[in-house]
Formats: sequence, structure tokens, C-alpha cells
Amino acid sequence: MSDPIWFDPTLCLIGGDWRPAGQTLPLTNPSDGSELCRIARGGAGDVDLAVAAARAALDGEWGAMTAAERGRILLRLSGLVRDRVEDLARLEAMDVGKPLTQARADALALARYCEFYGGAADKVHGQTIPYLDGYTVYTLREPHGVTGHIVPWNYPMQIIGRSVGAALAMGNATVLKPADEACLTALAFAHLAQEAGLPAGALNVVPGLGTEAGAALAAHGDVDHISFTGSVATGALVQQAAGGNVVPVTLELGGKSPQLVFDDADLEAALPFLVNAGIQNAGQTCSAASRILVQRGVYDAVRDRMAAAYGELTVGPALSDPRVGPLISARQQEIVSRYLDLGSDLCVIAQGQIMPEAPDTGHYVRPTLFADVPVGHPLAREEIFGPVQVIIPFDTEEQALTIANGTDYGLVAGIWTRDGARQMRLAKRLRSGQVFVNNYGAGGGVELPFGGVGKSGHGREKGIEALYGFSQLKTVAAYHG
Ligand code: NAD
Repeated sequence: MSDPIWFDPTLCLIGGDWRPAGQTLPLTNPSDGSELCRIARGGAGDVDLAVAAARAALDGEWGAMTAAERGRILLRLSGLVRDRVEDLARLEAMDVGKPLTQARADALALARYCEFYGGAADKVHGQTIPYLDGYTVYTLREPHGVTGHIVPWNYPMQIIGRSVGAALAMGNATVLKPADEACLTALAFAHLAQEAGLPAGALNVVPGLGTEAGAALAAHGDVDHISFTGSVATGALVQQAAGGNVVPVTLELGGKSPQLVFDDADLEAALPFLVNAGIQNAGQTCSAASRILVQRGVYDAVRDRMAAAYGELTVGPALSDPRVGPLISARQQEIVSRYLDLGSDLCVIAQGQIMPEAPDTGHYVRPTLFADVPVGHPLAREEIFGPVQVIIPFDTEEQALTIANGTDYGLVAGIWTRDGARQMRLAKRLRSGQVFVNNYGAGGGVELPFGGVGKSGHGREKGIEALYGFSQLKTVAAYHG
């Protein structure tokens, strides 16, 4: 087998050249706590160079390309990603601790984003607008210019695909700041983008700490748009920094998403979605369904079936492809363990098992299912970002809605009922960026616009909608008499 890290991970990509930053940082393998490799610790100077390279690309070959040419590059990139799915999945498994099957799905999603946005690049049109006599008025969709992309560690490939992919399709030149905890697939993606023929400077990658490279990018005076995915606290800082430059920001933040199960639901169909949406990527998913709200008539049945499923969950090293991998870091393990302690007075009804081959030095926690959790309890209100779900009973539809809408977040919600009128009523009244009816797609659906309300953020990525976000509208009013 070839070396899983087939490139030099200590370098930044700036203006088409791979170059060192002044310092490096260690990258940890979450499955055993060992040092995987070192990565660049980019700083404000590297960000300056990357932004200047992006600006130059807009004035050069990249800026002169037609939409169709940009689309062809993304389609070629999609093919290269698809050819390297196994390599990318392995990298992600080592770096994020993501079980191989899930990492493979992420790599395929990255290929699909490049395909989707490659195909869409030349299909975003302006409009003509009827106006006064003697005028022709039309709109043009233009790129923002230089776009900054600050991404987290939990789904690097998917998030890069949806934000960088859409930004490139619209003709922006991008600067990507991957997460300090996991950046290998971002670097691999950049190598493949070069191979696909992306002109120098259209994609620049500066790994490093959030407080250094991330903060420098967010506050940079020559960046025209920021796409940030991460925590609420950091998102607020990024918005503030970009606000100083009066620059638009897309914030894709956290969640405490509910699935509502009614007495008339098809429980057979619901069960896999109820559990998987909580434990996928060890619960480190913004759209994890960490709250399961169940109507009293089926409460015992749902609780017992979920408990049985939890009893079968295996937790282990990512490359052994268990159902649940380790958490990203010792810090995240500590945060989740603290939440489990907070729930010590609650009813734990089932836990998964850590496999004997999981090293003690890895960042493992047992997936844990709590039942009968009071709605005001921190476990029922706060984003835990670990494999922890709570089951909450309800009696009426109105009560379910109040509980579902009763957190600061609003990212995704699921409804399980056969009653069509109820589906429509709830889909309308749930305070959430996405609503799934009789299914639940944590993070899924390249085509589906995605984003939050409330503390889950603002702006939409994914789908065609993202192309509007990564462009701005110019109105041309021409008087010709
Ligand atoms: P985080 O906010 O700590 O870090 C996210 C990114 O911001 C990283 O690249 C980090 O280096 C950078 N950063 C940190 N401090 C910064 C600063 N001061 N200025 C600029 N950049 C800075 O988040 P995390 O812990 O990596 O990710 C987990 C969070 O992300 C969770 O809350 C999760 O719900 C959220 N998330 C949301 C989505 C979504 O689409 N809504 C997707 C994935 C993750």
C-alpha cells in the first residue's frame, strides 16, 4: 500500500506554490493519541500572501475563464476525487477518527459536490426586469471576489466541497483555513485541484490555529466574503471581525436537532434513522438528532428498540471500521465525559461497548442513551457533540412543537407520522433550516439547501441556493429611448 499521506503535510498552498509556514503543529491520530504528522502553522503573514495570490488570480487566468471552463475544471476534479476515494477515506479516518465507511461516504460526497457545482457553473442566470419606457434592465450574477473559508474538523471533505466548490463555480478565488485538528484531506483536495488544472491562486490553503490563521483571515481587509462553519462562540467572533470590513458572512453553526415520533409512525422505518442520526461520526455532527421526542403511546416501544440498538454499538479505532469511532481530541472526550457526569442522576437506558482492541490512549467514549430527560436539563438543551442522545416523552402535537422549538438552535428537524396534515402543519411551524418527513438526513443531500436559524447561524450552503450566496447581484438599467 502506498504511504497514506502521499504529499508533504507541512506546507501551505499559496499562489500555486507549496511553501512552508514559519512553524509547524502536531496532528494527532484520535484512534490512539499518537502524533500522525506535523502540519503548517500558518500565520497572518501567510494569510496576507494567500489573499494577495487570490486577488491576483481574479485579475489573471482564473478571472478570465468562462463559467463553462470553470465548470469543466470542477468536473475533472470530481473525477480525480472519485478515483482517490479509498485514499481520501483512509486519510480522513486517520485524521478525524471517522470509521472508514463514513469517511468513504464523505469522499464520495466531495466528488458529488464538485460534480454538482461543476455542472451548475454555467447555468446561473441573471434576469431582465420590465421597467420604464425606453429602458432595458437586467441583472448580472458576479463573484464576490476573494472568499475566505474557515472549516471545522468534523466533516472536512463535505464542508470544503459545499463551500469551496460553490465559490469556485461562481468564479471567486478562495482562501481555505482548515481546522487545526484535521487538515489532511484539505491538503489532498488542493493537490487534486492542481492536477485538475485549477489555475494558480484560485484555491489557496493556509492550515494553522484558529486564533492565528483563522482570525487573520476573518479580519482581513481584502477578503470580500467569509464562509464559516464551526461553533457559535467562534462564529460570533468571525462575524464581528468581518463586520469591521463590512463583509458578508455565512455562518453554519451548531444544533440540538429533534426528531418527533408520533403514535402513528412507522417505527420499523424510523428506528435506524433515530439511532444513526445520533451516533454517526460519534455524534460530532452539527445536524445530529440528539433529541428524540416520542409520543406517549409508542414511548416504551421506541425506548426499548433504541436501547437494544445501542447495546449492539461497537466503538473502536477508525481503520477497523466500527459503528462508532473515537472523538476528535482528548479535549472533546473531556467535554463529552463532563456531560455524561451531568446526567448521572438521569436514567441511562443503554450504552455501546468499547472494543478490546481500542487503545487506552485513544479518545473513546461509550455511546449513551438517556430516557425521560426533563426538557430544561442541559443534556436536553445544549449541543454535546458526542454520541449521546436523550429521549423525551410528549402527549400532544402542540407540546411536541414547544419542546422541539425550545432551544437556541434551529438546524434540522425530523417528523415521523403517517398523518399528512400533521406533516404539513409541523413542517411549517418547526423553527429549523431543514425539516425531514419520515426520514432524516444528518448532513446528507448535496442538492438540498442547508443552514440554520437562531444560534444555528444564517445564510444557506448546498444546492443551487449556495451559488446565490457565493455571488452578488448587479443591476444594469440602460436607457436607449
Ligand atoms: P470551532 O469554532 O472551534 O472551529 C471551527 C474553525 O474555526 C476551525 O478551523 C478553527 O481553527 C477556526 N477558528 C477557531 N478560532 C477562530 C477565531 N478566533 N477566528 C477565526 N477562526 C477561528 O468549531 P469546531 O469545534 O472545530 O467544530 C464544532 C462546531 O462546528 C460544532 O458546534 C458544530 O455544530 C459546528 N458545525 C456546524 C456545521 C454546520 O454546517 N452548521 C457543520 C459542522 C460543524
